[in-house]
Amino acid sequence: MSFTLAIVGRPNVGKSTLFNRLVGKRLALVDDQPGVTRDLREGEARLGELRFTVIDTAGLEEATDESLQGRMRKLTERAVEMADACLFMIDARAGVLPADEIFADILRRKSAQVILGANKAEGRAGEGGYVEAWSLGLGDPIALSAEHGEGMFDLLQVLRPLV
Ligand code: GDP
Ligand code: MG
Repeated sequence: MSFTLAIVGRPNVGKSTLFNRLVGKRLALVDDQPGVTRDLREGEARLGELRFTVIDTAGLEEATDESLQGRMRKLTERAVEMADACLFMIDARAGVLPADEIFADILRRKSAQVILGANKAEGRAGEGGYVEAWSLGLGDPIALSAEHGEGMFDLLQVLRPLV
């Protein structure tokens, strides 16, 4: 069975951008349960020599009657259950927001194996948020720029012993 990494975090931190970078065109859809296809995207990731399955928690951006917080919890818990490890992404430009703390709590309660990624860290604008990320108590953050492909080597180094 292949190693599965779930990318989790609040809307707009860059989850799908990273997912697309890792997966390229090798996109497959999760089809086991109703609603999951829309909310969780699964693909075959390539990073350096590593091959693994990656899950993007999409579907948070859609407007529904249910609160965003409720959807975030449900989807994240489901992704955590499907995954061997989670890449929890924050937006280094925005810093740590209350919504990020909610994810940190979910991940702690589920005792998920967490890799913390501070995305949008290209240039200087992300420096404050990168430092703030330590306050989440989830270990050393990796500075990433999903858009520009920065930090991929550091991500590879962290994933290599796990995959
Ligand atoms: P998601 O909602 O977490 O899936 O976030 P998206 O991948 O849709 O990205 C949200 C926005 O952030 C988009 O406008 C992206 O272009 C932008 N974005 C993603 N990664 C980066 C990055 O590394 N740096 C910057 N500056 N913007 C990024
Ligand atoms: Mg997305």
